[in-house]
Amino acid sequence: MDCIFCKIVDGELPAKKVYEDEHVVAFHDINPIAPVHVLMIPKKHIPSLLAIGEADKELIGHLHLSLQKVAEAMDVKESGFRVVTNIGTHGQQTVFHLHYHLIGGRQLEWTM
Ligand code: 5GP
Ligand code: ZN
Repeated sequence: MDCIFCKIVDGELPAKKVYEDEHVVAFHDINPIAPVHVLMIPKKHIPSLLAIGEADKELIGHLHLSLQKVAEAMDVKESGFRVVTNIGTHGQQTVFHLHYHLIGGRQLEWTM
């Protein structure tokens, strides 16, 4: 499958990983918008939040618990951070493998 993030999962493309287990992997965004900008993905290819199915409930819960671990590892647990998933055209999704941006390390604004 021609998916950048599947290639990162498979080790075909390099990435600066900050967390990995059997089901998920987190790595630095190649084009960070803040001092901390990590992408958390399931290893399973799911195109977006809209494609999450009943069978993925446990995986998505696990992914959220893993986000807590990444926040701690990146030292933003106390200062706060933002978790975002972009969906489709208006959401400006560019990679169609479910991913959560974990953004922090500076004061964020809320402008769209
Ligand atoms: P989206 O726009 O789909 O929400 O987010 C995709 C993100 O993936 C972007 O922030 C982009 O910088 C990042 N990205 C795209 N290609 C690569 C890559 O090859 N490696 C890494 N680490 N990040 C990537
Ligand atoms: Zn994929």
